[in-house]
Amino acid sequence: MSADDNIIEFRQRDPDDAVSAVRRKPRECMHRQVWCDDSLAHLTCKACGVAVNPTWWLARFATDWDRYRRQVEDKKKQLAVVAAKLDDAKRELRSVEAKLKRRKAKL
Ligand SMILES: [Zn+2]
Repeated sequence: MSADDNIIEFRQRDPDDAVSAVRRKPRECMHRQVWCDDSLAHLTCKACGVAVNPTWWLARFATDWDRYRRQVEDKKKQLAVVAAKLDDAKRELRSVEAKLKRRKAKL
């Protein structure tokens, strides 16, 4: 993981976009994507349109990020196990093909 992976991009809020993006009820929303208003220093949820506490959102984002990072590391470990099994299967296939070639040569 590089240092740039932890950088969060906050884009300029477009008021027309914010109004048209509201599509969820606030109580059902996880407020995963937000608009940042630099002049008011507050966040607005893109999905439900409510004002979101920036401190709460950043803390939750950091927790989610850590959980996603652990999931990725677990998947990488699982992938390494599968890749090792694939290498074993390829070696076994080459061995069987070599035996078959030798037997064909004897015929
Ligand atoms: Zn929301």
